[in-house]
Amino acid sequence: MPEFLLSSFRSGSIEVVCGPMFSGKTEELIRRVRRAQIARQKVQIFKPKIDKRYHEKNVVTHSLQSINAEPVGSAIEILEKLFDTTRVVAIDEIQFFDELIVRVVSKLARRGCRVICAGLDQDYKGRPFGHMPELLAVADMVNKIQAVCTVCGAPASKTYRKDLKKTEQVLVGESEIYDARCRTHFDYFDEDENLLAYSIPKKEERDDTFVI
Ligand code: ADP
Ligand code: MG
Repeated sequence: MPEFLLSSFRSGSIEVVCGPMFSGKTEELIRRVRRAQIARQKVQIFKPKIDKRYHEKNVVTHSLQSINAEPVGSAIEILEKLFDTTRVVAIDEIQFFDELIVRVVSKLARRGCRVICAGLDQDYKGRPFGHMPELLAVADMVNKIQAVCTVCGAPASKTYRKDLKKTEQVLVGESEIYDARCRTHFDYFDEDENLLAYSIPKKEERDDTFVI
């Protein structure tokens, strides 16, 4: 459905923009927010407190576009900070929020808000990130976008962590830590280290059930 129709329905809606780092999720979120502002709709923008990469308050893209946002420590805080007059709610880096985020987003949409969410669909190992699977399932509109592979220039759907010794799922960082990679170059270095590259690891050697 065209954006202008979605936003004019008072029934509310959930839009999700997902993809790897550097794919332009935040650029797209800012683009949609600016269009809503041109339409004179009241917009509130939220981001998780954990993301302080560029700025404490602003949402900033890798191409250094920026827009003012409210940092929140939990999903519930979004409801607490919401004004009655708000028509559009934009949430960046939504994969970092707690388990209540899907209920909060659904509640906003039920109240008649257009909710624009942007976030990583996969972590650095290619596993579904946080509550993104549920969010993608309940969304009305999903856009999965790609970056450019830093090795070969192909479309990239993966976020590659350069230092694989750092194994925590959440490690906030920039291009000093992460690269966008196509599927071939996402697996490549792991395979290089592993001489049995084309054998499937035994079940007990795998560290989770998501790696396929
Ligand atoms: P995201 O929020 O998805 O991490 P941003 O919206 O912050 O992405 O930034 C997208 C911008 O990043 C692009 O328009 C481009 O200028 C820049 N960029 C840097 N590295 C890459 C890459 N490997 N692929 C695509 N864009 C890149
Ligand atoms: Mg971003």
